[in-house]
Amino acid sequence: MEIFNYMEKFDYEQVVFCQDKKSGLKAIISIHDTTLGPALGGSRMWPYVKEEDAVLDVLRLSRGMTYKAAAGGLNLGGGKSVIIGNPRTDKNPEMFRAFGRFIESLSGRYITAEDVGTTEEDMNNIHKETNHVTGVTLSSRGAGGNPSPSTGYGVYRGLKAAAYEKFGTDNLEGKVVAVQGLGNVAYALCGYLHKEGAKLIVTDINRERVNKAVEQFDAKPVDPEDIYGVSCDIFSPNALGAVLNDETIPQLKAKVIAGGANNQLQQDKHGDILHEAGILYAPDYIINVGGLIHVVDELKDEFNLDRVMSNVENIYQNMQKVIEISKRDQIPTHLAANRMAEERLESALKNKQTN
Ligand code: NAD
Repeated sequence: MEIFNYMEKFDYEQVVFCQDKKSGLKAIISIHDTTLGPALGGSRMWPYVKEEDAVLDVLRLSRGMTYKAAAGGLNLGGGKSVIIGNPRTDKNPEMFRAFGRFIESLSGRYITAEDVGTTEEDMNNIHKETNHVTGVTLSSRGAGGNPSPSTGYGVYRGLKAAAYEKFGTDNLEGKVVAVQGLGNVAYALCGYLHKEGAKLIVTDINRERVNKAVEQFDAKPVDPEDIYGVSCDIFSPNALGAVLNDETIPQLKAKVIAGGANNQLQQDKHGDILHEAGILYAPDYIINVGGLIHVVDELKDEFNLDRVMSNVENIYQNMQKVIEISKRDQIPTHLAANRMAEERLESALKNKQTN
């Protein structure tokens, strides 16, 4: 792969390769764009088979963070890092301390957090060497704990805004919502939906989680493969990526799709297909930004959950803006979300250049 060609094509600022022989650290930090602020994005630890896979992953993920933060109205840039190795067998505390020293050497241009394969304990080890880390349990600034309930609340707010557009009301009483996955995010979401009187159809591969939802939210359970075709108003994917694809879209009865899972569209064309079918898709990164809003608050003087929740509430208005752009420019919502992010970046860049 021609790294500079790729960087030029999508306008990346910096890619840093980090190596520490003693601890076995091999990591890559990608800083895509710092127009709006320091680049924030988690550290993923994964046993990449080829170095090129690790490079591509970190580049792709860091650019995604630029869009997520920009569209979410956050003063943050986009970055991400990957550590090459098996998180179950290759970890040691010194590896994360060494990584922390590399992050420190970037003087705040990159801030890390947990991601797939890394834990709060790893973040604590990074924090021994740098302050440019969030998601830690040992912090003088106060720790925010698990961000998933904030993500769940944001998904609920985005789902309501989408419902308003499609049904002329955002009152969910009596609306049928099919929820795929009953993990941390979905659990919080189901709580809000149930409280408002929505009827829930749920599924998960974990039987215990399904039983809990049936009991707590009076939900109707279905088998995992049946969730796409159930009769419902809203489909909410909260488990895996790529669940909106050639096979599943023709089964959908829902008029709105709004969930917390990352990368729900298998390909961009599936966003176009939903648009043409008159199904309103709430773009994943617009409505699942609540967790990012939560972890960013940990970087302030003192973490404040009320402030987090009030910022997360605005995901409703953000979703409305996406719908406005989609109508204004006659484009599907997944492209409208990208345009919203790009417009914010362009205007910030212009302001910087004139100052
Ligand atoms: P989680 O691991 O707590 O929950 C995921 C659930 O999905 C689990 O209960 C799992 O059993 C279930 N599942 C897996 N495969 C399934 C299948 N085929 N059918 C039905 N259920 C299945 O994860 P989470 O933290 O709740 O995150 C959910 C999604 O939201 C993920 O895609 C994650 O990347 C995304 N997300 C999470 C956050 C956050 O703050 N946690 C923020 C942004 C995005």
